[in-house]
Amino acid sequence: MKKLKTLICFAVFAVAMLLSVWAITPLTAYAIDQDYNITIADKDGSTTVGVDITTENYEDVLGDGTVSYDPTTNTLTLNNYVYNGEGLVGDAVPCAITADTPIEGLTILLVGTNSITVSGGGSAGMAFFGGGGLTVKGNGSLVINAGAYGIVLVESSDGINIDGGNIHITTTEAMSAGIMALDFVMTSGDLKITASTVGIGTSKEDGICINGGSVEIGTAVGGYSFIYMDTDLNPVKPDTSNYVGDYNMTAGVNTNGSDASEFNEGYLSSYKYIKIASVHIHDYGTTWKSDENNHWKKCACGEETEKAEHEDGDSDDLCDECGYDMTVEEESESESESETESESTSQESASEVESSSQGGTTSESLSESQPKLEEPKGGLSGGAIAGIVVGSVAVAGVGGFALVWFVIKKKSFADLIAVFKKK
Ligand SMILES: [Zn+2]
Ligand SMILES: [Zn+2]
Repeated sequence: MKKLKTLICFAVFAVAMLLSVWAITPLTAYAIDQDYNITIADKDGSTTVGVDITTENYEDVLGDGTVSYDPTTNTLTLNNYVYNGEGLVGDAVPCAITADTPIEGLTILLVGTNSITVSGGGSAGMAFFGGGGLTVKGNGSLVINAGAYGIVLVESSDGINIDGGNIHITTTEAMSAGIMALDFVMTSGDLKITASTVGIGTSKEDGICINGGSVEIGTAVGGYSFIYMDTDLNPVKPDTSNYVGDYNMTAGVNTNGSDASEFNEGYLSSYKYIKIASVHIHDYGTTWKSDENNHWKKCACGEETEKAEHEDGDSDDLCDECGYDMTVEEESESESESETESESTSQESASEVESSSQGGTTSESLSESQPKLEEPKGGLSGGAIAGIVVGSVAVAGVGGFALVWFVIKKKSFADLIAVFKKK
């Protein structure tokens, strides 16, 4: 697979080189209006208009500065983009943003506060059909509220990589998923998903890797946070072996995570909530903090350690430990004042640390209440009226995959592929 990727990268590079050579020839003067195969929903009165990104409009697609595209890096920038409507009319999946992703991949850069709300049956926040993968990054936020999917990559031969941003996806239909793609990699940023059925689903086995950032997923009864889809929905534990730094993985049977405690793989199929987040390790440094009575060390988060009274065993009027001048009274008062101030500002983060340590204690109470965590295996696949079928390479044709969310026994696989395919 690595080799294949390298080959593809090389091929893409070669093509890019070729194109860049063309770009500097006079031919560009005759460039015609080129469509980048990306369509953005624009709200025009009561009608949802899809605006195609072209060489004419790519710098400011909607004319209000909220959407722009850089064709050289395949980067779509959302800058305070807000959409609330029924989605692009005429698309197989009504959504706010759709694209045939270029084979080298599409990047979405989040700037500011972005919000996508797509109402209507079977709707998605964003739906992608091209061969390439999707990378989401940036310091901005994105809230997606949709019916069936938050972000879905239908025929892609690559997956999705979240490398930044504060993303919150909510899907509301009885059968719905936050993110569906060939595979999923979380590198950085914050991702929160609330979905009825599936948080993140991939069609590649061991295709969910959390290497950084935080992922928090709650699913309703009958749902799973992470699944691998073959002909069934299999709950999986994401691969966190490459997580950079320390992390904490908690889980619970309540969708909102109110009972979350330390993740235990044995309960995987019972969990309705899973959260993976980096853990703060205190760094107290070597510098002593002090007031007239005590000295201590303090982490940037507010947590203190090694607090003790000054001691002057050798009677040089200096604390033996921290060097505090024990004859000075006034200075110490002003110092202690500023100390109290910084303490109060860091109280929030200190309480965070407390709550995370509480999570540790509740894990004991979970193991005591083991009977509550019964295995509901098959509850989703057998009893449910709907499911997911993933077409293999053969169905998609070009090494991609097709994926269908369908009503079992009511529609044939082929019918649904036809419906779901954009063209
Ligand atoms: Zn700390
Ligand atoms: Zn001291």
